[in-house]
Amino acid sequence: MKIKALNGFKDIMPGDVHLWRQVEQSARTVLERFHFAEIRVPVLEKTELFSRSIGADTDIVEKEMYTFVDKQITMRPEATASLMRAYIEHNMHGRKAVQRLFTIGPMFRHERPQKGRLRQFHQLDVEVLGSASPRLDAELMSLGDCLFSELGVSTSLEINSLGCPDCRPQYRRVLLAFIKERLDHLCEDCRRRSQRNPLRVLDCKKQGCRVQVQDAPSVIDYLCENCSIHFTEVRRNLDLLEVDYAVNKFMVRGLDYYVRTTFEFVTDQLGAQSAVCAGGRYDGLIEMLGGPKVPGIGFAMGIERLVLLLKRLGDHGEQNEEIDVFIAGLGEEAADYSFKLMHGLRAIGLRVDMDLDTRSLKSQMKQADRGGAGYTVIVGSQELDKQQVVLRNMKTGEQTDLKIDALTDFFSAAFGL
Ligand code: ATP
Ligand code: MG
Repeated sequence: MKIKALNGFKDIMPGDVHLWRQVEQSARTVLERFHFAEIRVPVLEKTELFSRSIGADTDIVEKEMYTFVDKQITMRPEATASLMRAYIEHNMHGRKAVQRLFTIGPMFRHERPQKGRLRQFHQLDVEVLGSASPRLDAELMSLGDCLFSELGVSTSLEINSLGCPDCRPQYRRVLLAFIKERLDHLCEDCRRRSQRNPLRVLDCKKQGCRVQVQDAPSVIDYLCENCSIHFTEVRRNLDLLEVDYAVNKFMVRGLDYYVRTTFEFVTDQLGAQSAVCAGGRYDGLIEMLGGPKVPGIGFAMGIERLVLLLKRLGDHGEQNEEIDVFIAGLGEEAADYSFKLMHGLRAIGLRVDMDLDTRSLKSQMKQADRGGAGYTVIVGSQELDKQQVVLRNMKTGEQTDLKIDALTDFFSAAFGL
């Protein structure tokens, strides 16, 4: 019986890996320019870390987490909570007033797999702890913007403000009253959650619920003075940096920890999976997890969706699997020498391969061709007796005899080592 990968879990095949590298390399380049440090955190955490931070009434915590029920541990569904846990655990706030961190890795959510939606997917997660400045919100969005430009992908930025513990209760009451009138038309999840967490109703993906809430009151109209100033300043700073955006009054995001600014970079090229990058401010989160009172903001970019966008652009080259030199050994006697030569040439920095099973010369020349070798070294026992090999330039087809002693110098010159 053939064993297949789990539904929603995908292999990233060699033909695609160059696109992943391109995303990761561009991310690292841009993040360095913005003075970020990479951190790597575990894939497994205590369940409570996620239920407390993301929120017990969210889709993620209610239905999407891979939790080992006997152990109370969970495969991380996102990275923010883990980074906060690490930040607190390593007392990072004591070392630097502002920490700029990022991480790249797999996340796990048990949702319905479809294009751009997997059960194991990957995120670039970027977080800044220690500043409440609205400039930072704008800086992070400009970072996202830079990364998309670097990759040649076009997206649009949508922003909103969710208010804070001072102004949200009032909005919550108004929203709850609005929802109560439509309760009978909402899905079971929304009915159940609406009392405790009415904002979740605005985030429901079901068409029936979306229709019901399209005229809902917007949190933007209920912001307190400080939140209102913050939001105005975020927009002013985005204008300053010439980052385009639109205000989306109904974007609430699927996680409970957000306050004030939330944002998404969206595309119309991936069907229902429109969000490529999403984030927001979470000023009370670190404190809520038992840490110091430190504000924070971050975003997560979905790498699968980014790779899909890159593929749509086409012509992103191939992964460079080509070798510099192929060594074709004739017969067993030549094999030892070839094997050692391969090792030596790799040690000076060349990409080298040979046929360990010493097939026919014809077959080996084919392998050299397929491998994209610039040169093939043909090693036969007669030549070995004379301390020489045959060197074939694979581009011109030209063949010359070369003394074994001269091989390293020849390749050093040919490949500029
Ligand atoms: P969506 O609305 O598409 O479910 P989300 O609000 O759940 O997204 P976040 O939790 O904020 O997304 O994660 C940030 C980004 O990670 C998303 O914008 C998306 O690009 C990516 N992402 C989230 N879930 C998945 C998934 N199951 N498969 C692939 N990418 C995902
Ligand atoms: Mg989701």
